[in-house]
Amino acid sequence: MPKALRKTRKSTATKSTSSKVAAKRRKSKKPRQPTTPVSRQRAGRVASPLPAAALKPERIRQILERLDERYPNVTCALNHQSAWELLVATILSAQCTDATVNKVTPELFKKYPTPAAFAALKPEELEPDIRPTGFFRNKSKSLVGAAKGVMQDFGGQVPDEMDQLLTLPGVARKTANVVLGTWFKKAVGVVVDTHVHRISRRLELTRSDNPKDIEQDLMKVIPPAKWIDFSHQIIHHGRAVCVARKPKCAECNLENLCHAADKTWSTVEIHKSAK
Ligand code: SF4
Repeated sequence: MPKALRKTRKSTATKSTSSKVAAKRRKSKKPRQPTTPVSRQRAGRVASPLPAAALKPERIRQILERLDERYPNVTCALNHQSAWELLVATILSAQCTDATVNKVTPELFKKYPTPAAFAALKPEELEPDIRPTGFFRNKSKSLVGAAKGVMQDFGGQVPDEMDQLLTLPGVARKTANVVLGTWFKKAVGVVVDTHVHRISRRLELTRSDNPKDIEQDLMKVIPPAKWIDFSHQIIHHGRAVCVARKPKCAECNLENLCHAADKTWSTVEIHKSAK
């Protein structure tokens, strides 16, 4: 074979081999892992930081003042006569409206008036009484377990310390904060329910989606003296005005302090990540 032809064939072969390798590499190439905070943000793996102005004490003060104006003297909407009844009502309120819990509890507390009465039950015996509140099998287990804990470990009295409350079945920080704040008037933390979760994000008091972290973020910016009222007020605001779908922004007295991405009406600039 002439030398020139051999050279051409060789170069064609080399070319096609290298383009195959390149194609293979392209195919097998894994997406690059984001390495910097900015690239991780772009990839949606960490929340973008809150704007510095969002956490300024003056803005927080205005939010708290306006909540006080709109919701003076608000308290927990769950009917109760004792720490035990409030604990039971709060456990029942998971994934259920307070109105439904308030319909169920009068009969329930008439039938089983004390923690001892609950502790003597098998969870199955309690199920029909709390069925309308949903998730009644798990809630029955929690209530009977909590009653046994109260009887065995705390002499029949609901404890007034966070770490002790957390030992009771079915009691996490939200329930413990409700009992401590509403009944014992102890501001140990901030109740983070679905309304506090949603509105704290809309108001850019947190970017987190995790209730524990949201509580920590709120505890950093809300003065401890306002922890109890703030949760009650935000829960009322979430029911009446800042509802999940189509918040009633035109009726909201926090409107010009709020840059939420899903506002239905706004006089201020919208922040896309405020949601
Ligand atoms: S302005 Fe709208 S989104 Fe913001 S807190 Fe008020 S109701 Fe909620």
